[in-house]
Amino acid sequence: MSGPNLLQQLDYSVLQQCIHCGMCLPTCPTYEATKHETSSPRGRIALMRAVADGRLAPNSPQFADEMYFCLGCLACETVCPAGVNYAEMIEYARAEVESGGAKAGAQRGLIRAFALRWLFAKPHRLRWIARFLRVDEAAGFSRAFVLLLPRRLRDLRAQQPKICDKFSFDLIRETESPRTPHRYRVGLLVGCVQDVAYSDVNRDTVDVLLANGCEVFTPRGQSCCGSLMGHNGELELARKLARQNLDAFPLGRLDAIIVNSAGCGSFMKRYRHLLPDDPRVKLWDEKVHDIHEWLVRIGIQAPRESAQPTTRVTYHEACHLVHGQKISQQPRELLRAIPGVELVELPEATWCCGSAGIYNITQPEMSQALLERKVKHIAATDALIVATGNPGCIGQIRYGAQKSGLDIKVVHPITLLARAYRGEL
Ligand code: SF4
Ligand code: SF4
Repeated sequence: MSGPNLLQQLDYSVLQQCIHCGMCLPTCPTYEATKHETSSPRGRIALMRAVADGRLAPNSPQFADEMYFCLGCLACETVCPAGVNYAEMIEYARAEVESGGAKAGAQRGLIRAFALRWLFAKPHRLRWIARFLRVDEAAGFSRAFVLLLPRRLRDLRAQQPKICDKFSFDLIRETESPRTPHRYRVGLLVGCVQDVAYSDVNRDTVDVLLANGCEVFTPRGQSCCGSLMGHNGELELARKLARQNLDAFPLGRLDAIIVNSAGCGSFMKRYRHLLPDDPRVKLWDEKVHDIHEWLVRIGIQAPRESAQPTTRVTYHEACHLVHGQKISQQPRELLRAIPGVELVELPEATWCCGSAGIYNITQPEMSQALLERKVKHIAATDALIVATGNPGCIGQIRYGAQKSGLDIKVVHPITLLARAYRGEL
């Protein structure tokens, strides 16, 4: 082995946090599925430390496989009595895997270069590809071709979220003000997948913020939050995108930066770890708020009473909301405030649905097993609607429900609140 590896650049005390107590084991989906110590949080941390200590080669296949078999769900962080910073460790560990080259291959390299370094690195490129997919969806050009693909690729196509007719900047003006004098001025992140496949959720978010006295600034120069890259071993690119967002949002003129995607919010609240030398990150991390967290903090206007019959709604906790940001009660509080909503608890609400960024693409078997488990629990609630605060979870659960013939709507909690304000519920 030559030269310091990436895990050696991580503060060694982070790798020493684990006290080997094993309390995380029952909460880890990959350990529960395999009962292998190396597929547990404790086992993975031991592998990372072995690489940092030079006892295990960074290009070891076992190290590479375990780092990518991990969902990154952070359930281990929630229960850990020692407060391990697993989020940071797994990011460095995956970057280590990439620099070690254990998973290198021409096809994988090409896909990563296209998706991570080209497509998601610039929002306008993603919008161009999304426009193409939208035309294709409508005209059905590739429908016959898709039937010729292997089953795995057909499944992937079926999991692709529907592209919206309009993207966020078509639906949201750069500055929108409430009718009454604003109480707060906030910035809004539109996201990448969220922008092209769930732009309606971004519009709903603006409507809810306006209804609660917030002027909303949606800067055109913003970029992807960087989580996709940060979680997949591309830390330098994630840093570049984080800097672009720091430049795009005028921190001094905003009370908060609002994020409605759990994965983005969780990553953006940790820019201080990504860019420790940037003087802006302390204030940035203080100002980034998940939408549910922000609304409960400022107190919401009660939506108007509903003339509709009561609807049973259940709530799935996105990993990066409940484990990544420790936000669990706020979405429930908002849902309970909506007249006509009866909130029923979902068994194992905090157990990952298998979406986990691009995990459903890279680890399809494990992802499907988790999805089936989730859908079974959802069916048992007899709910008509599942609410969840992350685009990945919305797409994954929609796909799982459709596949198993479960007639249920999957929406963002903020969409329900926006509909209540508009008198549509
Ligand atoms: S709960 Fe925390 S300290 Fe205990 S084994 Fe798991 S990671 Fe280590
Ligand atoms: S992030 Fe999730 S899958 Fe990975 S070790 Fe922690 S609990 Fe297990």
